[in-house]
Amino acid sequence: MTDPLPPLRDVIARHDLAAKKSFGQHFLLDLNLTAKIASFAGDMSDSHAIEIGPGPGGLTRAILGAGARHLTLVEKDARFLPALEEISAAYPGRLTVLEADGLTIDETAVMSGEDRVILSNLPYNVGTILLIKWLQAQPIWWRRAVLMFQREVADRIVAPVGDKAYGRLAILTQSVCSAQIVMKIPAQAFTPPPKVESAVVMLDPLPDGQRFTDLQALGTVTASAFGQRRKTLRRSLAQAASQTTASTEDLIMAAGLEPGARAETIDIAGFQALATAWRSARPTRT
Ligand code: SAM
Repeated sequence: MTDPLPPLRDVIARHDLAAKKSFGQHFLLDLNLTAKIASFAGDMSDSHAIEIGPGPGGLTRAILGAGARHLTLVEKDARFLPALEEISAAYPGRLTVLEADGLTIDETAVMSGEDRVILSNLPYNVGTILLIKWLQAQPIWWRRAVLMFQREVADRIVAPVGDKAYGRLAILTQSVCSAQIVMKIPAQAFTPPPKVESAVVMLDPLPDGQRFTDLQALGTVTASAFGQRRKTLRRSLAQAASQTTASTEDLIMAAGLEPGARAETIDIAGFQALATAWRSARPTRT
């Protein structure tokens, strides 16, 4: 990809942007690689994109190069802001740079238009928390998310029932969107290299009416069931059932499941039925 800006290594050296471990900083400096990642967002000519954790801006440049109508950056580490402002100058009117925390920002307050996409090489320590935040958003405001995770986390997001990585993260994610790994990235592609491989996950919200919206209930029953994954539902769901007026067996039967089954054999629809049963057996507040 060609853009009017200097190589990222020069930008990093000029602004003295050594990676900080505490902020989970591992940079992608190969603009061909970041261009490939940005391409998974599809046509962005009418999109407002948001990127959390742009760092020195490798993915940022690729998103703008791919033609996003507008891009908002959310970066917590103020050291990067001058380098990011230089990118803004090269793409007049198309980039907004915010010094803010991705965990607390209200994305819809800083974005406009109908077509909103998320792209991010997420800091590993906050990646899944941000994912859950975006899954819980109601109404769902994003058309697509293209996100980098540790390979092991990416496997847990896309796992089908029966897979050893299948669990709470797969069930919560796939209850809201389709999820696929579109690219694997070796550790050496980053500066400095992390200890593990990464993968890019593409997430598209399911159509209205197909998304499961009570993620609090789903989170509770999956946490209980997979907290003791070797036990049968009869045993492992006792904790979730204790928060309701129903017995564990009643909850399981209401969901149409077998008390002797184990969590890893229950498909996503089964867990959604369990979440619905849990919710209806919750004592109503007076
Ligand atoms: N996207 C850049 C790249 O691909 O080269 C940098 C990726 S680096 C793994 C993660 C970036 O996220 C860092 O710039 C870090 O400062 C930033 N970051 C960490 N926690 C954050 C948070 N809670 N909100 C916003 N940015 C954060």
